[in-house]
Amino acid sequence: MSQVGTLEAGSRHDLRVGVSPDAPDESQVLDESEGAFGYAHSYETASRYDGPGLRVVLWLSGCLLRCSYCHNPDTWHLKDGTYVSAQHVIDRLGAFAAALRALDGGLTISGGEPMVQLAFTRRILAGAKRMGLHTAIQTSGYLGDRVDDRFLSCLDLVLLDIKSSDPETYRVATGRELAPTLRFAERLAAVGKPVWVRFTLVPGLTDDPANVDGIARFVAPMKNVEWVEVQPFHQLGAFKWKAMGLDYRHVNTSAPTPDLINRVLEQFRAAGCRAR
Ligand code: SF4
Repeated sequence: MSQVGTLEAGSRHDLRVGVSPDAPDESQVLDESEGAFGYAHSYETASRYDGPGLRVVLWLSGCLLRCSYCHNPDTWHLKDGTYVSAQHVIDRLGAFAAALRALDGGLTISGGEPMVQLAFTRRILAGAKRMGLHTAIQTSGYLGDRVDDRFLSCLDLVLLDIKSSDPETYRVATGRELAPTLRFAERLAAVGKPVWVRFTLVPGLTDDPANVDGIARFVAPMKNVEWVEVQPFHQLGAFKWKAMGLDYRHVNTSAPTPDLINRVLEQFRAAGCRAR
């Protein structure tokens, strides 16, 4: 049984490993005791990037994907996170609630993958809603089949990573199947849940024009998709792969050029998406 700890403000770029060595494996469906406790990496208090307005961003532990360009491999395993109570997280959030409301912001839960610890995530989102905060998650959608209407009712926005439109490219990039993500996107469209689609542009991996067009054509008819955000690959997480002794495939991958970013943005816009 992991020791209950406290979560301190930090950054997505902090390296945190081996904090809770007794944690279960993230591939198990957790008995979460209705989400009273869970594993978290850190939280940031002033993001203007992960949803509208000023955001607190909570980085949860646990992810079943293994994206070759992931900048936070220290969020893959529950054992690398701090075991905390949901109430502790909600109390920390409460200290910022007035400022977040005043600046039209709220809470974004990212990771890792928030759906690995579904009940824990839902409990924190519900706590944020009780404070009158806008709520969002960032997710790959891979575990979207686990989500019920109760979970969706706590959410104002989904930042949905669609990493590829080609199943083979998706598998090479993430080690998993694409279909659950597309299924989740279609479900969010069917219920009209606001979505910002996020696409990580990795030269030599996801930049093929046909791959981009495939995402654009899939997303364009979805009225609930407010934005497509193109996220350029960067090397800020490379040091974590090295520190954790992981085999990093992108040592020699460059950030996309402005011309490539513009080409991809124009592909999305030509299909009818609002893209930035
Ligand atoms: S889904 Fe996110 S956290 Fe998981 S491996 Fe991919 S980039 Fe990393």
